[in-house]
Amino acid sequence: MSNSRILVVGATGYVGKRIVKASLAQGHPTHVLTRREIGFDIEKVQMLLTFEEQGARLVEGSFSDHQSLVDAVKQVDVVICAISGVQFRSHNILLQLKLVDAIKEAGNIKRFLPSEFGMDPSRMGHALEIGKETFGDKMIVRKAIEDAKIPYTYISANCFAGYFVGGLSQLDSLMPPRDRVRIYGDGNRKGMVSFMSVWVVQYVTIFMTSFDLLITFFKTYRFESILVNVEPAIEAAYARIYHIYYEGCTMNFEIGEGGEEASKLYPEVRYTRVDEYLRRYL
Ligand code: NDP
Repeated sequence: MSNSRILVVGATGYVGKRIVKASLAQGHPTHVLTRREIGFDIEKVQMLLTFEEQGARLVEGSFSDHQSLVDAVKQVDVVICAISGVQFRSHNILLQLKLVDAIKEAGNIKRFLPSEFGMDPSRMGHALEIGKETFGDKMIVRKAIEDAKIPYTYISANCFAGYFVGGLSQLDSLMPPRDRVRIYGDGNRKGMVSFMSVWVVQYVTIFMTSFDLLITFFKTYRFESILVNVEPAIEAAYARIYHIYYEGCTMNFEIGEGGEEASKLYPEVRYTRVDEYLRRYL
């Protein structure tokens, strides 16, 4: 689908803006959903204008106007959604059900990539109650896509380096700590984690490392006791840390039939070592 026309939804977000950039760089006619609700958000407006200057087509639409979504979808071949889903920020994953309805009605979409870009929700059925909702919501969207028989690709990007590597996975900063580091794990498991720099659809920079540095936090504190008297958002973040570093949930499985490992699909991509990545934080 080299010349496919792509509609990016959630284009002004952390992931979305990079998808727009990648789509334009690879010569795809790129449409950007421009929501009326953006209103006076000057940063978004300016970013959208920049996309337009770079060759994107701005298409007006709203999640509260079904026909506008159908009209936007009808103009393209592929829809990529990067709507926000991080629990400790806004939580809009289920809004995608409206997009699924629009894609179903339009009937022309050759591929839909919903907003995933994290841990594979189908492997997180056992997740701790706190923070589980995000995985559950992503599974609800998957089911709707599959029930509607829309061709799809799900991207499990695991842990973005910007969130997890730069700040050494501390929960209070995205910058590396200078004086003290919390150590995660139980001391018995090798903390294998999969990190990925921001996903840009066709070209990815992935790096995986055995993160021996982070090994013993949960050995000394019972997990439940950490969760006393903290903000719900922080609780959810701790739950992620638990699954990633204690359980090794991003690495302890075989991908299996129907899935592909991105580094095999894109062997030309240059890997970045963690120490190399961290140099920009010095
Ligand atoms: P952002 O919080 O940056 O938001 C993305 C976009 O969602 C916004 O810019 C906006 O786009 C749209 N949006 C926000 N609120 C609404 C609303 N009420 N109605 C409609 N659209 C809305 O999201 P991220 O880029 O951080 O997250 C995208 C995906 O990536 C999520 O699925 C998330 O779980 C995943 N992720 C994964 C990470 C990892 O480490 N693996 C880390 C961070 C995210 P616009 O205004 O342009 O319409």
